[in-house]
Amino acid sequence: MNVLEKARSLAATVTDPELPMLTLADLGVLRDVSLDDGRVVVSITPTYSGCPAMATMRDDLVRVLGESGLDATVRISLAPAWTTDWITDEGRAALAEHGISPPGPAPQGPVTLSLLPTRRAVSCPRCGSADVSLTSEFGSTACKAMYQCRSCLEPFDHVKEI
Ligand SMILES: [Zn+2]
Repeated sequence: MNVLEKARSLAATVTDPELPMLTLADLGVLRDVSLDDGRVVVSITPTYSGCPAMATMRDDLVRVLGESGLDATVRISLAPAWTTDWITDEGRAALAEHGISPPGPAPQGPVTLSLLPTRRAVSCPRCGSADVSLTSEFGSTACKAMYQCRSCLEPFDHVKEI
């Protein structure tokens, strides 16, 4: 394995601090790993601007690569903007396995502002029932909403579509 392959496979093991069952690759945040004059350059795209997890992701990438003797720089790539559509199928399966409802398709084009709760097609990750109610627009982190299943009563987090 050459240095670039090693750097790519190491970077792909780093997990998201807020959704630790997902790697940055599963999340679609890890955009590119390249070599620049012997240094590893990792490009990541924030899940949303101002996401407090970005500093942790950057530190974790530098630490994991550094532990294998690779000197890494992390670049933040803002365009194109990340959307939940970039979460891989493996990532969606990992969310569901951990009782978190994965996001549906991201909204396309201009989003109409509304003061009413966002309507989403959400189903219970435990029993699959679509009879669920929104408990709170904000779950354990700002990127998740809280729901409860009316069929099995399971409370669960849903990753919001953006
Ligand atoms: Zn249920």
